[in-house]
Amino acid sequence: MLANKTALVTGSTSGIGLGIAKALARQGANIVLNGFGDPAPAKAEIAALGAKVAYHGADMSQPDQIEAMMAFAASTFGQVDILVNNAGIQHVARVESFPVERWDAVIAINLSSAFHATRLALPAMLKSNWGRIINVASVHGLVGSAEKSAYVAAKHGVVGLTKVTALENATTGVTCNAICPGWVLTPLVQKQVDAKAEAKGISNDEATRQLLGEKEPSLQFTTPEELGELAVFFCSAAGNNVRGVAWNMDGGWAAQ
Ligand code: NAD
Repeated sequence: MLANKTALVTGSTSGIGLGIAKALARQGANIVLNGFGDPAPAKAEIAALGAKVAYHGADMSQPDQIEAMMAFAASTFGQVDILVNNAGIQHVARVESFPVERWDAVIAINLSSAFHATRLALPAMLKSNWGRIINVASVHGLVGSAEKSAYVAAKHGVVGLTKVTALENATTGVTCNAICPGWVLTPLVQKQVDAKAEAKGISNDEATRQLLGEKEPSLQFTTPEELGELAVFFCSAAGNNVRGVAWNMDGGWAAQ
């Protein structure tokens, strides 16, 4: 379905980004990976699916590095047809004790990076009159949780950016939508499970049960594979007129 298309997925060396990159690779897209850590395992997983794969290590908090990454993707594969803004970090603290440096980092990586990559991807997408911009927001783009001010602010911002990008391009073949996961068991959430287990002196299994029980009625994690299939749907012909949605896959979290 996506042969001859190129997908750039930010923050795709692990977790949800890698799951989405693999789902798009299975559809035949060329993949540009990004993210910290050793990219070799992620590259090997994509190559094993028969897709062409490249990697750029841009720090998504740095606009000049995002520009270099977008130029690298264009020179490697021609152009970026599918942009998945996924890179993200978390920091947990009450507002009055939230470190200013962490606030700035969360906003830069979770929100401003999506603006920069989107503004740089749009001209080529509009020229070919086909493009898909998929923003990995969160259920925290729709509702709040205590001690996550920067994350919730950034994710609500991502949902807003999604709507405006969709509207500005509504008469073209370029769509923009957001995916809003609930809990997904990735390194980002494992850290929160570990912190809960340590703070309460409970086992990791019990901490996991409590984490899910507090917010997610299904008591199940959403998987990167399920999120990948939603991204594939947005890229399909059936997604041609899906514009500006913030689609939660959250086990009922936001329905409460
Ligand atoms: P993760 O920690 O497994 O992956 C994050 C990715 O982003 C990694 O590849 C990491 O290297 C990369 N990254 C971090 N900072 C970066 C930077 N400055 N520059 C470039 N890359 C950077 O986390 P995840 O859970 O897969 O999260 C992916 C996205 O999904 C994030 O936007 C997160 O907010 C969102 N999300 C996660 C959950 C969840 O439960 N895990 C729920 C809702 C939304």
